[in-house]
Amino acid sequence: MSNPTVTCVTCKQEGPAITGRIPFRGDLKAEIQGSVCAPCWSNWMAQQLKIINEYRLNLAEKRAHEVLEAQVKQFLHLSGAADVDDAAVGPDKARELGNL
Ligand SMILES: [Zn+2]
Repeated sequence: MSNPTVTCVTCKQEGPAITGRIPFRGDLKAEIQGSVCAPCWSNWMAQQLKIINEYRLNLAEKRAHEVLEAQVKQFLHLSGAADVDDAAVGPDKARELGNL
C-alpha cells in the first residue's frame, strides 16, 4: 500500500502527505492535511519552534494560537494568508506581537 500524496501549495510539488498529528483546528487542519506535503510541514514545525521562542508564546493562551495560525498560513502559502509582505508589517504589529 503506497502512502497518499498531495500536490503541495507550498513547494508546488507532488509529495507525501503528512502522517503525523496536525495541531490546528477545523478548516485549517483540513487544508494543511489536503494541500501541504510532509517535508514542507517539517519545515513549518522547525519554524514554529523559532516563532514560539521569538515571541515567547504561551501556548496555554488562545492568543498564542491565533499568532501561530496567522504565521502558518503565511509560511505554507495557505488560503487566507495575510496579503502583506514583511516590510508592510510595521512597528504596530511588531509591538502587538511583542506584547503577548
Ligand atoms: Zn511541499
